[in-house]
Amino acid sequence: MSYRPKIANVTKAGSNDKEGLYEFIVSLADGTQCRVFYNRFPDWEMTALTRLGKVPCPVCHKDFICKCMEKFQDDFDRQLKEQEWLSKVAE
Ligand SMILES: [Zn+2]
Repeated sequence: MSYRPKIANVTKAGSNDKEGLYEFIVSLADGTQCRVFYNRFPDWEMTALTRLGKVPCPVCHKDFICKCMEKFQDDFDRQLKEQEWLSKVAE
């Protein structure tokens, strides 16, 4: 199993700027979309990640809820920070 998520785009789906809470929709290069939640304070921290059921899961190929993407939470977090998506999209 060598699936690696590759982030292609990120959009902001909602936020509470005062509380530092953000909801992003992350689109991957393979068409998978995930919803991620972040808490900005004191440092950007991912609090949840779920796959949107628009296309089948690239890992288990189910087209309903599964938990595969949760395993890649660290990978998502690293890419979102390294590619500076959070600071770009949160504004
Ligand atoms: Zn899956």
